This record gives sequence, structure tokens and C-alpha cells, in this order.
Amino acid sequence: MKLNWLSEFLANIVNASAITEAVTRPFIGLRQQLTPSSIYCLIKSSSAEALEHILIACAVYLLVCLGLYKLTFWLSAAAAATAAASPSDARNSNNNNNNSSSNNSSGSGESGLRNALQCGLRSVHLPKAALMGRVLLVIAHPDDECMFFGPLIYTLTQRDGCQVYVLCLSNGNYEQKGQVRRDELYRACKRLGICESNIILVNATNLPDDPNVEWRSDAVASFILHTVESLDIQAIFTFDRDGVSSHPNHCAVYYAAASLCLANLLPKGCKFYTLDSINLVRKYLSIFDLLCTCFMSSHWCILSWKDASIVRSAMMEHQSQLKWFRWLYIYTSRYMFINSIREINLSDIELEMQIHDN
Ligand SMILES: [Zn+2]
Repeated sequence: MKLNWLSEFLANIVNASAITEAVTRPFIGLRQQLTPSSIYCLIKSSSAEALEHILIACAVYLLVCLGLYKLTFWLSAAAAATAAASPSDARNSNNNNNNSSSNNSSGSGESGLRNALQCGLRSVHLPKAALMGRVLLVIAHPDDECMFFGPLIYTLTQRDGCQVYVLCLSNGNYEQKGQVRRDELYRACKRLGICESNIILVNATNLPDDPNVEWRSDAVASFILHTVESLDIQAIFTFDRDGVSSHPNHCAVYYAAASLCLANLLPKGCKFYTLDSINLVRKYLSIFDLLCTCFMSSHWCILSWKDASIVRSAMMEHQSQLKWFRWLYIYTSRYMFINSIREINLSDIELEMQIHDN
């Protein structure tokens, strides 16, 4: 009887080793199977599968974007046709979508779907203040207007009652081609619908076209403020703090305009909008950035292929800048088709100025 504990202990050891063996047996088998060649085969097959999924996801994304691109212009054309057929009805439907849809009971399903889609999917989704009145685009160099702001300018110049002015803060004399680039700017703006009298080209020695020269914020701000006041401007458009291409001259324009806003020097009612800078991948997605834009931006304008060809033809006027990589840019850049903008308020500027100072 005294040796019972010993026999129980030995029995437990036997059971424990049996359990251990049962647990480790599959791993021993696995270890025997995991030879270098089998690991290579495993990685190869899983990589191929992952690649297949990635390719399918990309294909679906591209198809959805293409579908939305077509749908956007179909809806815009339908809305324009409706507005042209009965302007008063179109106004009423804008004021009260519910009433108009209930009045048209026979086509309520189709028109309801169309109205819902038109609310979310519009080729032009800009704030009302930006579409009316006198608008100033502030750029740093000749060719910025086509390379970055083309869709916005073209959209605005097509609007009745919208006067677009361009303030270009340098003549682009970096390669000693100031006079050539000045003429190119005038020709490009003409293609986009801006007449020569609406272009203000600054040629100041303290604002050279040079990424290595820091433009003084007060110097830039004084040019902007003088133009805004003398032309009674109601909305300013310019770069955001990243300047699309991070060119220091582009960023300087933003900080100068922001400083005016911060100091409350802009006339009352003058709005301030900036063009969104986006990452490198999105920048070269062309029209396939449409989905990202609609989800991530609150205001945008998208050009059809036909309208984008006018922006491309305006860019062609900048012959002195058409190096081989610019051709790549013209046909692949999202900025030749899509612009998304953001209204800047005082709290945004205060935050961005703090980041800038740090
Ligand atoms: Zn530039």
C-alpha cells in the first residue's frame, strides 16, 4: 500500500509522455516535410495566389472607376438636359427634391435613383461661392495653371457670370526663358478661356523662379492683397501647404495667402480655397483616381476626355517645358482630369502655421 503513490506517479509519467508524443508527432512529420525545396514551393504557390488576388482587385477597381467616370458624365448630361427643358422645374427640384419626386409618380423610381446618384456623383461638385463672381487663381510659375489647375480653370470659365483672373508671381525665368514663358502663359490661358486682360504677371527681383530662393511671405502677400482689393475678388484659389509638387515657391504662395487670412486682411466675404496635394501613386492614376477623390474630398471637378483635351492643348502651348517626362505627365497625371479643392478656414490655418513653425 505504501508504494501506491509510486505506481501512480510512474503511471502519470507514462501518460504524460504519451500525450507529449501525440502532440509533437505532427510537428515531427512537418519538420521532416519542411525541406528547402518544399518551402520554396509553398512560397511560390502562395505568392502566385496572392498576386492573382491583387490583380483581380486592381482589375475590379479599374472597371469600377471607368464605369463611374462614364456614369458621372451621363448623369451630368441628363441633369443639364432636364434643366434646359424646364428651368423652373429644375430650380424647384434643387430646392426641394422630395416634392419633385412625389409629383412625378410614374417615373419616380428612375428619377429618384437618378437624383440620388446625381447628388453623390457629379462631375462638378464645387462650393457655390467658387462658381460665381470674380475668382483669382494665384500661381507661382507660368505652366502651373495647366499642370495643376487645368480642370478647375476650365470648369470655372465655362460658367456664366464667373470671371477668372490669374496672378502669376514669377515669369519663369529659371532657364533664362522669361519672355518665352510669358508668351506661353498668355496663349495657354487663352485656350482655357481666360483673356489677356485677366492675367497679372509679376516680374519682381525678390520673387525669382528658383527653388533655392525662399520667397518672403510679406512680399507675396502684398501682391495678393493688392490684386484681391483692386479686382474685388470673391474667391482665391491657390496651392495647399504641400504645393502639389513640394516646390518651395508653390508652398510660399500658400503661406502668404494663409497669412493674409490669419491676419484678417482679406475683404469680408472673400473665400480661400486650396488645391489638394495627393501622394505619388494617386498623382499618376489619371482618371482612375476618381473613386479616391469622391470618397476623400468634399469638392472636386472632373473633366470628360473631350474637355481634358483642351487642358492638354493648353499645356502644349508651354513648348519650352515639354521635356520627355512632361509628356508622361500630360497623359497619366490625375491633375489633367481631376482637381479637388478644400475651403480653408481660420482654425485650419492656425494649425498648419503651427506645423510650419515647428
Ligand atoms: Zn510651378
